[in-house]
Amino acid sequence: MTVRTRFAPSPTGYLHLGGLRTALYTYLYARRTGGRFILRIEDTDQEREIPGAVQKIYDSMRQAGLTYDEGPDVGGEYGPYIQSERKAMYLPYAKQLVESGHAYYCFCTKEKLEADRERAEKEGRPYKYEKDCLKLSKEEVERRLAAGESYVIRQNVPTEGKAGFDDVLYGHVEVDCSTLDDNVLIKADGLPTYNFANVIDDHTMGITHVMRGTEYLSSAPKYNLLYEAFGWQPPMYVHLPPVMREDFRRDKMTKEIIPDENGNPVTIVRKLSKRYGDPTFEDLLEQGYLRDAIINFIALLGWSPKGEREFFTLSELEKIFDLEGINKSPALFDMNKLTWFNAEYVRRLSAEEYEKIATPWLQKALGEGELDLKRLCELLQPRTEVFNQLPEMVDFLAEMPSFDKELYTHKKMKTNPEVALDALTRILPVLEKQEDWSEAALHDAVMAAIQEFGMKNGQMLWPLRIAISGKANTPGGAFEIAYLLGKEETLKRLNHSIEELKA
Ligand code: GLU
Repeated sequence: MTVRTRFAPSPTGYLHLGGLRTALYTYLYARRTGGRFILRIEDTDQEREIPGAVQKIYDSMRQAGLTYDEGPDVGGEYGPYIQSERKAMYLPYAKQLVESGHAYYCFCTKEKLEADRERAEKEGRPYKYEKDCLKLSKEEVERRLAAGESYVIRQNVPTEGKAGFDDVLYGHVEVDCSTLDDNVLIKADGLPTYNFANVIDDHTMGITHVMRGTEYLSSAPKYNLLYEAFGWQPPMYVHLPPVMREDFRRDKMTKEIIPDENGNPVTIVRKLSKRYGDPTFEDLLEQGYLRDAIINFIALLGWSPKGEREFFTLSELEKIFDLEGINKSPALFDMNKLTWFNAEYVRRLSAEEYEKIATPWLQKALGEGELDLKRLCELLQPRTEVFNQLPEMVDFLAEMPSFDKELYTHKKMKTNPEVALDALTRILPVLEKQEDWSEAALHDAVMAAIQEFGMKNGQMLWPLRIAISGKANTPGGAFEIAYLLGKEETLKRLNHSIEELKA
């Protein structure tokens, strides 16, 4: 049997990280087993559809490197792969269920259903459709259909007995049929509901393994009843626990923190959610996280490889991913861990790769000046966690930050504004005379001067770096920064800082 898996997003927005994880596991399982990976667009809920979202799904899948073997924009033998384009396929199957008594036409109006729901609520019992239309005679149904009355088709769930299914993670899951509602299968607009379409599509597309979120765990018994009614073999199910995140308790609307009675924030664990500002896959790429780092990190969000190793490329994951490693407990998303992962990946880039990715970020802060970007990149690479930090790390090269006297005091370096002023006044003529402005030559000249003046290294090097950068933290020391700035700019800044220190 060839494994056939599918990722079946609804076009309701960006690819959130929980969705990316489902897509990734689904993809990896197909690759590991030599199977086929299919993309299906589930757009039967047209009210929730966001324009452009389908294209974004294609783009995101490509950016993530999750190539699908079949899908709307690549074709395949089991198409179409967009549910709205399959519209004509569903009704005959629903009619087949009506024939066999597993489904029925329902003509109840919205108002009636609403009133029933309100009554149930008032009486404090869970609402369920009361099967009113199941009692209609065949003739009456035909008459009303012929008269063009609006209808839906509902699943006829048995009132007694149990319905269940097998899940790879959760084992046999079973519920009492009496707790299940007669779901709508075909809506008044003729489109199927997710509840129906997922069964028909998974079967007719030959899907062998279904991976999706645990929010579908409670409906899956109902889907199994449909498989049984058709006499079809259900796929293997792997319901994936949600991705959670630690946060403070917040107001749902304003997102403001709701403290406890003592005014302290309350830590909670909640589902990862765009609504609370959690990043999507696209957000992370835009912020300068590397694709491979995100994928590696997401792979480990609820799946553990055998052994201690943590770093895997996508193609390595394709060889080792297994269902046994998936955890049953919810995964906890930790942004710091992702950032740490990213920093590791940044370090592993070749110098050329780093420069290529870093350059647009650097140009944001520096424009297209004459600065030695290659050298700057060498200095930055070991310090880069995420690329969006770069503009802030280098902006001082474009413009000297405003003077801050306090930066000149450093206990360990045994320096303060007076020591600094003395050091800088002495080194100025040395640098003015300096012709070779390479880092090595600057190093030799300044170190020789320090010796001659009888100072400690830190008493010169700390103030000098502050005087030409205006920042306590810089990528590289005084020589590297002087080199990057060039002689003219270095001297200009040095003179300026000396004047400020004197003032
Ligand atoms: N369209 C569903 C969603 O986006 C997918 C559920 C499934 O994979 O069956 O949540």
